[in-house]
Amino acid sequence: MCGKETAYDFETHIDYRTGYIEGAGQLCIACYTPEIRVSRSYITVPEDLIYNTPNDLELGSKVRELYWQSKK
Ligand SMILES: [Zn+2]
Repeated sequence: MCGKETAYDFETHIDYRTGYIEGAGQLCIACYTPEIRVSRSYITVPEDLIYNTPNDLELGSKVRELYWQSKK
């Protein structure tokens, strides 16, 4: 939608992708997630945290922790 590169290869089956909409194609996470699309405030997530946390669930909890820390 926005022309940004997504994290997926063309070979990745659509069942294993997030943000794939039939007829529209692959959307990036920001275009796919309304909460991100309309958001005006952001927090910074260190790249190392993403890289060193291969488990998405665990990464989610760490990001949430960062969020609450940023609110203190
Ligand atoms: Zn996009």
